[in-house]
Amino acid sequence: MKKQKEHQEKKRVVILGSTGSIGRQAVEICAHYQDRLEVVGLSAHSNAELLASQAAFLNVKNTALTTKDGPQALVELALSHEPDIVLNALVGAAGVQVSYEVIKTQTTLALANKESLVVAGELIMPYVESNQLLPVDSEHAALFQCLVGEDVKEVANLWITASGGPFRARKRQDLTKVTQAQALAHPNWSMGAKISIDSATLMNKGLEIIEAHHIFAIPYSNIKVVQHPQSCIHSLVEFVDGSFMAHLGVTDMRIPIQYALSYPKRWPAAFSPASLDLCELGSLDFHAPDSETFGCLRLAREAGEAGGTLPCVLNAANEVAVDAFLDGRIGFLDIERIVESCLTSHSRQDASSLELILEADAETRLKADELCAKLKKGG
Ligand code: NDP
Ligand code: MG
Repeated sequence: MKKQKEHQEKKRVVILGSTGSIGRQAVEICAHYQDRLEVVGLSAHSNAELLASQAAFLNVKNTALTTKDGPQALVELALSHEPDIVLNALVGAAGVQVSYEVIKTQTTLALANKESLVVAGELIMPYVESNQLLPVDSEHAALFQCLVGEDVKEVANLWITASGGPFRARKRQDLTKVTQAQALAHPNWSMGAKISIDSATLMNKGLEIIEAHHIFAIPYSNIKVVQHPQSCIHSLVEFVDGSFMAHLGVTDMRIPIQYALSYPKRWPAAFSPASLDLCELGSLDFHAPDSETFGCLRLAREAGEAGGTLPCVLNAANEVAVDAFLDGRIGFLDIERIVESCLTSHSRQDASSLELILEADAETRLKADELCAKLKKGG
């Protein structure tokens, strides 16, 4: 009886993408809070060894390896074990369908996979119930916390902070020959390869504008980006009365991951040091972002504003181009060229179904692959 009561009090958690940067940190938090969280499902794509050791460590019986079991296994894993919360820590558009299905079943979704909302925000958001979607992306987790108890109608602007990435303050001519290793070396955050490159091109900030638009239902014209190299303020909300609310903290993703898992409560940090030394920090800097040098930021905003299938095209072209850059097939600035070219040649359609969106995604990947091959041939 006691056992059953304990079981009922624990939150049942599924972690999708448990072998990734976010996933591994989530596993760490769940291991620390085994008295409050029970992991009932784990998924990985290629890293079978780590998946097996995580499952043994947390005593999880249900796992999926998507290279072997296929993408449909994700939806089954996410929904078959009566979870209280599903953490989507997959990378890329591979996370879209499962976000959509989880939301439709009224299950709480802790969302790291920003691509879900970039690609299919127009389809997913109408199904989202109050506090069903808990953002894990640090800026959105910050905005979410600044808005607890507030009325979004009283928001004047959302201010998303950007570190500027490893190439902050560089000009376009300085970016022609940058290497993968330089682009992967983020000054403030340690993250997976794809988001690290997105941070270097500022595409990540562009994706985050679109993500914020969907989560908080704020028009694009009221979503601003401010460069803040210390990454101490994770984002700010400006209200109609002129007040600003900011969220500050150390640059450690375990804070927003844990908050999504503990919500609506706060638990002591499962790690240390979790607190910020303001005196050591001394001062904070802010600048306007340079969207001339970092064209992906502009492209993402434009695609978001146009809506329909365009954000999906933006995302698919970017995923292919980032892969090609990481493989050494194209240069850093080619990422932006490929995304722009795919957006220009695409005829926008309304995002009327997931099938239609996934079709636009597949078509764009073919097109972007061709462009990568041409660029490689051209040298
Ligand atoms: P990683 O690349 O580190 O991890 C990705 C995870 O997804 C791994 O478990 C990987 O499995 C799995 N995966 C990869 N491809 C597929 C696929 N085609 N189908 C199913 N599963 C797949 O990514 P991150 O943890 O860095 O990022 C995850 C998400 O969180 C992204 O959307 C990112 O933008 C967002 N995010 C990440 C932050 C960070 O600090 N890392 C910060 C804010 C947001 P395997 O390793 O087994 O191949
Ligand atoms: Mg972020």
